[in-house]
Amino acid sequence: MLAGKTAVITGSNSGIGLGVAEELARAGADVVLNSFTDRAEDHDLAADLGRRHGVKARYIAADMSKAEDCRALIETAGGCDILVNNAGIQHVAPVDEFPVEKWNLILAINLSSAFHTAAVALPFMRAKGWGRVVNIASAHGLTASPFKSAYIAAKHGVVGLSKTIALETAGQGITCNAICPGYVLTPLVEAQIPDQMKVHGMDRETVIREVMLQRQPSRQFATTEQIGGTVVYLCSPHADQVTGTTISVDGGWTAL
Ligand code: NAD
Repeated sequence: MLAGKTAVITGSNSGIGLGVAEELARAGADVVLNSFTDRAEDHDLAADLGRRHGVKARYIAADMSKAEDCRALIETAGGCDILVNNAGIQHVAPVDEFPVEKWNLILAINLSSAFHTAAVALPFMRAKGWGRVVNIASAHGLTASPFKSAYIAAKHGVVGLSKTIALETAGQGITCNAICPGYVLTPLVEAQIPDQMKVHGMDRETVIREVMLQRQPSRQFATTEQIGGTVVYLCSPHADQVTGTTISVDGGWTAL
């Protein structure tokens, strides 16, 4: 379905980004993987993905906390038809103790990078009369929790940015949407389980069900394949008129 299209996915050497790259490649798109590291294993990851799906795949190192790197990523890729802004980090602390440098870093990676990449990618999409911008926001782009001020501010910002890009590209064959995942079992989340088990004195299954998925009514994690499949849907002709909106993949979190 996506043969001949090129997708750039930021923050895609693990977790959701890698899952999205996998599903886009499965659908036939050439893919550009990215993170801020430049290790042999990053390039091997792309080569392996390309081989398995019979598509062109490469890895471009670029630090999404830096405006010039965000812009250079899209230029080095030669533009793209599909842009998935996925890079993101988290820090947890009350507002009055939140380190300023963490606030600035989270805003830069989780929000501003999507502005910079889109700014460079949109002219390439307009030239072809087709494009997809998919921003990976969060259930925290629609709701809040304490101690995650920077993350929540950035993710609400991503939802607003997505709507604005949708309005600026409406009728041009380009759509822009935000996907709002609930908890997805990625290496980032997996790493939190042992700590939570200690803090709460619970076994793995109980901590997952009663603590981590407490706000997710399905009490099941979403998977990286499901997020990737949602991106593929947004790139399909069925979604030509889906723009400027959010799609929650959160087991009912935001219905509560
Ligand atoms: P992850 O840590 O597995 O992946 C984050 C990716 O971003 C990694 O590839 C990492 O290398 C990359 N990255 C971090 N800093 C970067 C930088 N400066 N420049 C370039 N790349 C950078 O985490 P994940 O859970 O897969 O999260 C991916 C996205 O999904 C994030 O935006 C996150 O906020 C969002 N999200 C995750 C969940 C979840 O439960 N896992 C839920 C909702 C939203």
